[in-house]
Amino acid sequence: MSGEKAYLSVDVLAAVAAEVAAAVAKHGLVNTPLHPSMSTPSRLSILVEEVGEVAHEINEHYLSGRDRNHYYTHLEAELVQVAAVSIMWLEAIRAKKASS
Ligand SMILES: [Mg+2]
Repeated sequence: MSGEKAYLSVDVLAAVAAEVAAAVAKHGLVNTPLHPSMSTPSRLSILVEEVGEVAHEINEHYLSGRDRNHYYTHLEAELVQVAAVSIMWLEAIRAKKASS
């Protein structure tokens, strides 16, 4: 990483880390993509659900005329959830590769 330009802000990375912690606390580690026993179809279905929620927020804004502040707040939250699920899945892959 040294010498590379940092494109990601600490705030965004912290929001994703907090979302991962919240997901583990809410659902239990075994029910998150972090857990090695979770199947690939289950991980994908969770990710696609979150992507669908991003689409829902976009539709609500453009079809229902929700105000811009509400839109960005909810869109950000859903994008953080997409990132959190993706990173949990990535961490599980890395852990599996490291143990094999
Ligand atoms: Mg969501």
